[in-house]
Amino acid sequence: MIELVGHEEARRLLARARPQTVLLTGPEGVGRRALARWYAYGLNCARGFPPCGECLSCRMEPHPDVLEIRPEPGRRPVVPVERIVPREGGGENLLEWIEAAPRFSAKVAIVDGAEHLTESAANAMLKLIEEPPAHAYLVLVAPSPEAVLPTIRSRAFWVPLAPLSEEVLQKLHPDPDFLAFAEGAPGRLFFAVEHPEEVRDLRRLVEDFLHGLADGRAALERARELLRRAEEGLSPWPFFRRAFAQLPPEDRAEALEALSRLEEAHRAYVSRELLAAWWVHAMRSVYGERPSDSL
Ligand SMILES: [Zn+2]
Repeated sequence: MIELVGHEEARRLLARARPQTVLLTGPEGVGRRALARWYAYGLNCARGFPPCGECLSCRMEPHPDVLEIRPEPGRRPVVPVERIVPREGGGENLLEWIEAAPRFSAKVAIVDGAEHLTESAANAMLKLIEEPPAHAYLVLVAPSPEAVLPTIRSRAFWVPLAPLSEEVLQKLHPDPDFLAFAEGAPGRLFFAVEHPEEVRDLRRLVEDFLHGLADGRAALERARELLRRAEEGLSPWPFFRRAFAQLPPEDRAEALEALSRLEEAHRAYVSRELLAAWWVHAMRSVYGERPSDSL
C-alpha cells in the first residue's frame, strides 16, 4: 500500500478533477511522490478513488502503467532528454512509453525533479501536454511552480502541498528532534525514524557549530561538513531554524534571512568553501555578542 499522510484536500481535488497534467509542488519529503503514486493507482484501480489496495491493479508493484523518472543524481542533477524522447541508442523514454495502450486504464508518467528537466526535454513534453492521448497522464513533481518552465507550468493543474502540522506528525512519532528535523514533511520524519543516529549526529553538529563560533577554524570545518551533509540530502537547516526560535525577534529575523540566502546560494551551486566562510561570518554576526550558553 501507499504510505501517504495528510493532504486530504489535494486528494479530493485530484480524484474529482482527474487532470491529465498535474504539477505537484512542495518541500522535499512532504509527500509529493506518495501523492503522485496514490493518484496513479487511483486512476487504475478497478474501484476508482481512493485506490482500494486489493484489486489486481492495486496489487501491482511495480505497476506496468506507472513510469517514474528521476533526475540523475549529482550536485547538478538533470533529467536528460533521452529519458523523455526517443533517441538513437536511447533506452526507455516517456513519449514512446506513454503512447502505448495501458494494461489497466491509464498510463501515468511521474517526473520527479521536474525542475531539472533540460529545456529540450521540457519542450519535447509540450506536445504531449497539449494533445495527450486519452489514457495518458503526466505528473510533474517540483519544489515550487517557479522552478518549472512557464510553458509547462501554465498548462498543468497545480496542486501545492504544504507542510503538515506538528500535531499531525506527532501522531506518527513524538520525538522532538525528529519532529524538528521533519519540519512538517512526513518523508523526513520516516527517514529520521529509520536513521535515528544520523539525525541525532546532525543535531549535535549544529549545536557544536553554534556553540563553537568563537573558534574560527573549527567553525569553518563544521560549516563545510554541514553543507556536505545538505548536499547528501541530510538537511541541517531545520535544526538552525529551531535554534533561531530562541533568539530575540530582531536577531531571529536576521538569522532566518541569512539562512534563506544560504539555502538559495547553495541550490544555485555556489562553492561550498565560499558558503562555509560566509555562513560562519553570518552566524557570528547574529550570535557574536551573546554568551554561548544562551543558545
Ligand atoms: Zn484497487
